Amino acid sequence: MKKILLATNNRHKVEEISAFLNPADYDVLGLSEIPHAPQTIEDQPTLEGNAIKKAREAFHASGLLTLADDTGLEVYYLGLEPGVYSARYSGENATYADNNKKLLYKLRGVPERKRNARFRTVITIVGKGIEQTVEGIVEGKILEELHGTQGFGYDPLFVPNGLVRTYAEMTIDEKNTLSHRARALQKAVDILKTM
Ligand code: IMP
Repeated sequence: MKKILLATNNRHKVEEISAFLNPADYDVLGLSEIPHAPQTIEDQPTLEGNAIKKAREAFHASGLLTLADDTGLEVYYLGLEPGVYSARYSGENATYADNNKKLLYKLRGVPERKRNARFRTVITIVGKGIEQTVEGIVEGKILEELHGTQGFGYDPLFVPNGLVRTYAEMTIDEKNTLSHRARALQKAVDILKTM
């Protein structure tokens, strides 16, 4: 198996992404498995900027083919907020519950037809002589209250277009077949297969 470094310290992400990359013959390592791992500061104004920064720094530190991702919820009525600030929408140490509460507050009184939003995942692959960035998008709507207990983040508020359940009302396997992250990862796998 070939090795690929995932620029994250999140064990759960390494497992989730391994499920996509193992069948393409890639063994996925996390930052905790390499010496001198960088602590990248995610201070860029776009998802692309953060994904590229994380991938470049981890590649330079390790010399390994590296993949980095960044995801945001983009609500059209709010000018694509919270976007790159999704994790810290209501402050630096915000919980998922705090962020959902703030989103509902910002959308109070906004009718259903104006509650369109999309999840967007950006993935950058950096290696020797290669740098490629892809995105995966799922369009949907923000509900007026939380529905479901699975998943994380804004999952209880987001219903993909054409469906009636939120991400948080789906099993992890169901969500992983149709999510923004799955779409971006599929494109990343297509690139890796050509390498
Ligand atoms: P990250 O770039 O994957 O760390 O995601 C940044 C933030 O976006 C997370 O802290 C969540 O608030 C939100 N987020 C990312 N992916 C999802 C998802 O699949 N469902 C719900 N929220 C998500």
